Amino acid sequence: MFINIIKIGDTTDPIRRKWHGLVARSKKQNREYCAFKDFKSWFLNQKKECFYCKKKDVKLTIDRKNNNLGYVTGNMALACSSCNSAKGDRYTEEEMLEYCRRWRGRIIHTHTILSG
Ligand SMILES: [Zn+2]
Repeated sequence: MFINIIKIGDTTDPIRRKWHGLVARSKKQNREYCAFKDFKSWFLNQKKECFYCKKKDVKLTIDRKNNNLGYVTGNMALACSSCNSAKGDRYTEEEMLEYCRRWRGRIIHTHTILSG
């Protein structure tokens, strides 16, 4: 009887599960994605908070900062599901950050980025 312990270990690793989800999405959308080891080292270096609104203790999803690019290092950010779905394909990384800053009332003088 053979039991593949490594495989069982792999599927219970939450980081690997996230990566698998991302690969599945990338394949469906025909996008580029990074290797697991790159994803893992990126993920371990992230603050566990939303990149846009800075909320902690929320379920974090993986956002593509630039919607034209895939899940590659430098283009991924952890985002709460509200920010991720608000951003969608509509806003760029900068616009979304600006939106969150305004919304939180952290900046009084805002006009530069959105009005360009
Ligand atoms: Zn957020």
